[in-house]
Amino acid sequence: MSRSSTNDPDGSPARSHTLAAIVSIGDELTLGQSLDTNSRWLAQRLVERGIVPMEHLTLPDDLAGITAALQRLADDHDLILCTGGLGPTADDLTRQALAQASGDVLIEDAVSLEQIRTWFAGRGRAMPALNAVQALRPSRGSAIPNEQGTAPGIAAHISSAAGDGADCFCMPGPPREMMAMFDSHLAGLLRPPAGRTVLTRSLHTMGLGESEIAARLGDLMRRDASPLVGTTASWGMVSVRIRYEGPGPAQEAQRAIRAVEQRVRESVGQWIICEQEASLAAAAVDALRRASQTLTVVESCTAGLLGSLISEIPGASDVFAGGWITYSNRLKHSQVGVPEELLAAHGAVSAQTAAAMARGGLERGGADHCLAITGIAGPSGGSEEKPVGTVYIAHGNRHPQGQHALIDVRRFQMAGDRESIRQWSARSALAILWYALAGRADTPLLRQTVRELH
Ligand code: ATP
Repeated sequence: MSRSSTNDPDGSPARSHTLAAIVSIGDELTLGQSLDTNSRWLAQRLVERGIVPMEHLTLPDDLAGITAALQRLADDHDLILCTGGLGPTADDLTRQALAQASGDVLIEDAVSLEQIRTWFAGRGRAMPALNAVQALRPSRGSAIPNEQGTAPGIAAHISSAAGDGADCFCMPGPPREMMAMFDSHLAGLLRPPAGRTVLTRSLHTMGLGESEIAARLGDLMRRDASPLVGTTASWGMVSVRIRYEGPGPAQEAQRAIRAVEQRVRESVGQWIICEQEASLAAAAVDALRRASQTLTVVESCTAGLLGSLISEIPGASDVFAGGWITYSNRLKHSQVGVPEELLAAHGAVSAQTAAAMARGGLERGGADHCLAITGIAGPSGGSEEKPVGTVYIAHGNRHPQGQHALIDVRRFQMAGDRESIRQWSARSALAILWYALAGRADTPLLRQTVRELH
């Protein structure tokens, strides 16, 4: 891929940012104590803009190592995004490394110093002397304000004997600070290559496995197709991503994406629940809101996970009344009235118990819908008849005329570890509700083995 250039408004050439490297700095990352989530987030922001992330690098807090890496990256990238190592302590070395890599010296940035003082003053504290170091930047570089913390970002150019060098932007490590700085200050400094459009569209399905989706999409998923169609799977949800990357204008990209989206919908449309950034929980909350109906939950093996996913959606209280965590048989009986004889006869993980939990939740919670989950998340507790991963999910729907509620109970055989079984169960429950509200309660879900109406 070659480098391209555009002209600044004043006519001077300004190289576009075409090939990028993302560098994460910190011992805690290389030693595996923290997970590098910044790189992934930044790569996505670059890709959205048509800038190609060519390399990701994770480096320990070592001045010579960081300096050498920045110099090497400037040889064959035109953009370097760094995160971490901008704190006030001796192990925060990004400032010095950037100055050395760009053949510059550090000077104090008066505006940054004032901003750091103001940040502390806003919290009723004087700035500790140690923090003054955070106002340093290479003399030919510039500071990037940080409204969320004390570490300003730094922009500087690193020259290269091999070419034009790279623009380097250093941001603080804490993701909240990094994201805010990127969105507010850095995104506008990037110069995506002109005449190249990158557009993506995501459609999220639930019910079919990834290979079944791929089989239905067929030729659409050819690696030489444009737009490219790919799938990713996460706890039962398979996302179909359509990605256009090409020289055409945005309208052409949109037209191409729309044409492929239509073909994707023809193949797997009946399993598409939500799109783009929307989550399954947001789709379920939205569907309840549109129906002006409410929900309660009764959770055993997921112990609040389902309620938590729902409550992540802003404004969920319009439709989500709350619920019960009934881990023990005692609470299944005392909180939502599951008969003790029923528990004794069928066990806590059974279709009958799941149905009774949903019925009790409906009766005691007074909502229109109740989702109940009971299962064996493992690693112990399984039996031949009910192995680890056996999960019953019941959906109770209050009859509009107040008559006997219909309870839809499904048995699932989930696979994976405890976390996967719990996450998959909570998501399957949301999908059951969504399909019911969409008038498609008959849609079977992945890993569902039996469906009974009680
Ligand atoms: P600060 O002023 O907060 O010290 P900093 O730029 O020095 O900012 P670091 O000390 O390197 O940042 O990292 C602070 C914390 O930010 C780390 O402990 C880690 O939890 C988080 N963090 C750093 N880098 C990343 C990363 N790449 N992905 C996710 N989290 C990160």
